[in-house]
Amino acid sequence: MIFKFKSWWRKRIVRRKSIDDALWQHCIQRLPLLRQFNDEEITRLRELATLFLYYKSIEATADLELTHEMRVVIAAQACIPILNLGIDWYAGWVSVIVYPQGFTPTRTQTDESGVVHEQLMSLGGEAWHRGPVILSWSDTAYAGEIDGHNLVIHEFAHKLDMRNGAANGFPPLHAHMSFEKWTKAFSQAYEDLLFKVEHNLPTPFNRYGASAPAEFFAVLSEVFFELPQMLETQYPAVFCQLCEFYRQHPRLIA
Ligand SMILES: [Zn+2]
Repeated sequence: MIFKFKSWWRKRIVRRKSIDDALWQHCIQRLPLLRQFNDEEITRLRELATLFLYYKSIEATADLELTHEMRVVIAAQACIPILNLGIDWYAGWVSVIVYPQGFTPTRTQTDESGVVHEQLMSLGGEAWHRGPVILSWSDTAYAGEIDGHNLVIHEFAHKLDMRNGAANGFPPLHAHMSFEKWTKAFSQAYEDLLFKVEHNLPTPFNRYGASAPAEFFAVLSEVFFELPQMLETQYPAVFCQLCEFYRQHPRLIA
């Protein structure tokens, strides 16, 4: 009964709050990443983006004026990973905060001897466990390029990873998926990237992915949607696992 009501309510939101036709078409033109989807998928993506805009608060910091078009550009990209998962995968948090540029939060860390260190780190985005997603608009707007980098997909991949606790590169797998296969595929590929980074060897992947398993999952999720052929060639087992997890088989030709 509750499920039926939720489904009815969401259909009502999609009908009443639907993204304006002209704006949606403009968004599709602006985001070449969406070219991989057929008409039916684009329709569902638009419905998901509509629900995303309804359920999430997307706000800018004081030094940025956020237009509805910018909100739609964020929502459309954020919904790519959940196209075949559903909006409930983003349940449990509400806020997206947009900075004009990259930002530099101060991080405090306590080392083994109890000394507290302040660190300044320049970031393009962040995802907090049960908290907000933070995006820099300059990096979000740049996501129009097909180059294997996509800040929005990166941060929202972290959000999916966090559905079963702190981000660790191990999101909740679907019932039919194998824990062992996921672990084997990701740990072998992670070790490969780590080795290449440590020995300064060439790799087509963002070296930042070697900083932690959580970052590896987020970085490879970017590549999965932007340069799927490259991921399939380099790390085929990871590609298969991501196809099963996202329930998608990306086919974008860059
Ligand atoms: Zn990250």
